[in-house]
Amino acid sequence: MPGSPAFIQGLVDALVELSSRDALTGLANRRAFELALEREIDRVARSGEPALLLTLDIDLFKRVNDTYGHNAGDGVIKAVANALLDSVRPMDLVARVGGEEFAIILPNCASAFGETVAERVRRRVEHMPVVVGPGQEISVSVSIGGAFAPQWVRSTPALWVERADQQLYRAKRQGRNLVQLEPTAVSVVSSEEKRLLFDSFQHHDHD
Ligand code: GH3
Ligand code: MG
Ligand code: MG
Repeated sequence: MPGSPAFIQGLVDALVELSSRDALTGLANRRAFELALEREIDRVARSGEPALLLTLDIDLFKRVNDTYGHNAGDGVIKAVANALLDSVRPMDLVARVGGEEFAIILPNCASAFGETVAERVRRRVEHMPVVVGPGQEISVSVSIGGAFAPQWVRSTPALWVERADQQLYRAKRQGRNLVQLEPTAVSVVSSEEKRLLFDSFQHHDHD
């Protein structure tokens, strides 16, 4: 019933959902992405779990708009959004952070898997045919940059995004349709050191 607590709660939920979703693709919008990034940084700092951030940009997209029109361009953006969603786990957050720019947060992604996941995303987009007009199909590609959150050290959303973006620019410079991940430093804290660290915390707790 309009005005009832349940109705108002429904409206509030719908507004929250609207304010965190991108209208064209239904993906998380920039605002939701930034909140999720903050949460992930907290989690990495607490748990030391590895987390990967990918930033993606459609290659030579101006050409698509110029050749097939803005509506066809919008169709390409939607198709890429779906390809990204299809190539990651449900726990990963896929966001549209700009016109033809996307980002993916992958919690609990071991550094050994980073390259594999990013390559899977890149290939999925490359092999996806997109309809841009009657009987007209094209293929598009994305360049992908990636950086892991520093484990056991608190980062900031801006710094993390900047590191991933630097790799994205490298991928563009090296010819596009490429993945570039920031090299992961061998963990500066060994598992033995972490154990010692935690043992000393526990020790203090009981003092
Ligand atoms: P690069 O490979 O270097 O990324 O080349 P590019 O042509 O893709 O260059 P850039 O990323 O700078 O181009 C972005 C273009 O995307 C410019 C703008 O006209 C177009 N664009 C941005 N948002 C939208 C949108 O919502 N819909 C459509 N159709 N086009 C958009
Ligand atoms: Mg761009
Ligand atoms: Mg582009």
